[in-house]
Amino acid sequence: MKSALIVRPVDSNGRIVIPKNLLTDIFKAKDDEKLTLEFFYNEDSIILKRFHPSCVFCDNREDLTDFKGAKICPECLKKLKSI
Ligand SMILES: [Zn+2]
Repeated sequence: MKSALIVRPVDSNGRIVIPKNLLTDIFKAKDDEKLTLEFFYNEDSIILKRFHPSCVFCDNREDLTDFKGAKICPECLKKLKSI
């Protein structure tokens, strides 16, 4: 893990501002693209990773259908319908 040599205060609501150029460099986000991050943590660290929605059953990321907040790929949806 590299240090970005950036120090930012945490406000009273627990928010921090992540420099836009850092997000652009790390996540290759385009200006018009909505970037969603996923938080991972252990006892003394928080790691942010770009969130990629995937099928809850097989992790496929293509052509997902949303069902009550869960993403399901066409193949798993087909299997569910045949039950
Ligand atoms: Zn699936």
